[in-house]
Amino acid sequence: MKILMFAIPVFMVTILVEAAIAWRMGRRGVYDVPDAITSLHHGVLSQAIGGFAKLVDVALYVAVYEAFHLFEWSRDSVLAWVAALLLYDFSHYWYHRFSHEIPVLWGSHVVHHSSEYFNLSTALRQPATAALFTWIFHLPMAVLGVPPVMYLIVGLVDLLYQYWVHTELVGRLGVLDRILVTPSNHRVHHGQNDYCIDRNYGGIFVLWDRMFGTFVDERDGEKIAYGIRKPLRSLNPLWSNLQVYADLIRQTRAARGLAGKLAVWFGRMQAPEPMDPSVVRRYDPETPSSVAAYGAVQYTLTMVMLLHFLSGFEAFPVQVSVTYSIVILVSCVTIGGVLEGSRIAFAAETVRLGALALASMTLPDWFGLPLPTAARAVVTAGALAAAIWLLALRRERPSAPAAA
Ligand SMILES: [Zn+2]
Ligand SMILES: [Zn+2]
Repeated sequence: MKILMFAIPVFMVTILVEAAIAWRMGRRGVYDVPDAITSLHHGVLSQAIGGFAKLVDVALYVAVYEAFHLFEWSRDSVLAWVAALLLYDFSHYWYHRFSHEIPVLWGSHVVHHSSEYFNLSTALRQPATAALFTWIFHLPMAVLGVPPVMYLIVGLVDLLYQYWVHTELVGRLGVLDRILVTPSNHRVHHGQNDYCIDRNYGGIFVLWDRMFGTFVDERDGEKIAYGIRKPLRSLNPLWSNLQVYADLIRQTRAARGLAGKLAVWFGRMQAPEPMDPSVVRRYDPETPSSVAAYGAVQYTLTMVMLLHFLSGFEAFPVQVSVTYSIVILVSCVTIGGVLEGSRIAFAAETVRLGALALASMTLPDWFGLPLPTAARAVVTAGALAAAIWLLALRRERPSAPAAA
């Protein structure tokens, strides 16, 4: 988590640089501000909520390692690190592949595919529930004796590697596209086009796809439509983590018999119908740029909260970290709703600002952070200013459609 704290500023800067380059190149379809903020909100939740799931993953890994590990691995051997990384990437391939083939796993992983854009911010659109499932695929590593520290570090390397491949601005890279996961072959993975479905699952190496028959090269003449066949059509990061599960619960009620109900969750997903990618229209709630600017400012402040949350996560008592993660969750959901133009979200956001002002005035500290009088005054004035800004935005869109 501490390493991620250092990575977050790098993510923010590189996203701004990519957006600026795309703008300069006149490629307006690369970024959409409300979509990018939504991706970043998902990234925030994957840490603030997913942090608890990660604890489960690590605890199970350590328990299995201590009880069953067959071999002793030297942490001083370069070869051991390379082997651990290869093992991790191999496990990742199967986790990722099953996440596209089995509904219960897809319900979590779908989050990563819910954007209809493909840029560096998409990389951060990570599910909050992933670690509830990943551990299953990593237990063989524990049995083989990969030490938990090594497991965590190679896992982080694998994850961070996948950041840079989420871009439309890097073209083909020749032979590398057939060895490593690259922007070209990962664009295919995020495509809805028929030839893109269930392809290119690798994390660092795309060699696994070539070994197990899931590799396909990007096609030059066919524009990729990014996203999923059953679109999310929402900027609510909580809903995107729950949407497929809500669907599965509905299907379970309708399914006959225990076997039928279990198949809803654990059966093989059906292959989608053929589709013409040129008819896909991206979800657009027509967020005015003034509202997007409000969202960007509030997202930035939420990000500051996340950094503080991550810095204290290990030291906080459980009830404190749970409360803090709920504060962050509510922020992401209400800001997302404002971007959608939802009337309820405008009201909820006003309540959130009021609660922040009240908390800054009355609480003895902010989750362990001392609150000198000047800081209390700044937060209160900031929340008041934001509320006035919000009211002005509300007036600007009196007929804003109510979105779910
Ligand atoms: Zn995927
Ligand atoms: Zn991806």
